[in-house]
Amino acid sequence: MERWPIGVFASVDAGLGVHLEVAHELKVPTIQLHAPKAESRNHQQSKDFLARCRDYKLTITAVFAGFEGESYADIPTTKKTVGLVPVETRSARTQEMKEIANYAESLGVEVVALHLGFIPHDVNSSLFRETVAVTQDVCDHCQAMGQTLHLETGQETAEGLLTFLQAVERDNLFLNFDPANMILYGTGNPIEALEMVGQYVRSVHCKDATWSDQPGETWGNEVPLGQGDVGMEDYLRTLQKIGYAGPLTIEREIPQEPDRQKAEIGQAVALLNQLKAKLA
Ligand code: MG
Repeated sequence: MERWPIGVFASVDAGLGVHLEVAHELKVPTIQLHAPKAESRNHQQSKDFLARCRDYKLTITAVFAGFEGESYADIPTTKKTVGLVPVETRSARTQEMKEIANYAESLGVEVVALHLGFIPHDVNSSLFRETVAVTQDVCDHCQAMGQTLHLETGQETAEGLLTFLQAVERDNLFLNFDPANMILYGTGNPIEALEMVGQYVRSVHCKDATWSDQPGETWGNEVPLGQGDVGMEDYLRTLQKIGYAGPLTIEREIPQEPDRQKAEIGQAVALLNQLKAKLA
């Protein structure tokens, strides 16, 4: 594959991504797929979906998990509801995470990704140890199928991520780096963070955002690519510097406005192509 193939975040049914037709119309070669609900994760649907991807010449570079009950309404709600950290939903979601990995395997996809949730900062807390254990469990399940597990970044600082990755001690555990999330969650300068965790970055999101006036307390704003505080040229230069050549997957999380979403992703594709040419 060429360096930095462009991609979009896509969904089969409900989800934050665009429909497959949109990916096709935007003429991108790759997608990351937001895992569909359990009822759509069967053999026939996988086969049909793969056939559509083939028709559209789309390669699925990762399957992203999501769970019923997750809400990104505000930062405290996100902390309470997202990923495998919250205790109440952990065991059912861990089971579902493994089923999603199996679904990815049925699609021939070797990368499974998720928002793990807010990793506790106190490495001596039982919640930290439990989060390490559940991540090891999922990593081992993925490893048996030759898959890597990528953690979406944002909730943690770069130092916090490194501490956690080293505690899990699994060589199929990597990062899906999202620079805008560092700004949205107020966890640090995304370019500096990328340099620090670079060796673990195996997939990325291209998303942009502006800082909140109360970073870490309230959300910053997600904005069209190139209009926020990430600095897309700096971002791509840093990806180049850390030796990342994988897909550039565009995320624009406004599924409630599909026309605007498509138009802005189209502009993002153009911007990335321009920067790719400049940095060639
Ligand atoms: Mg993201």
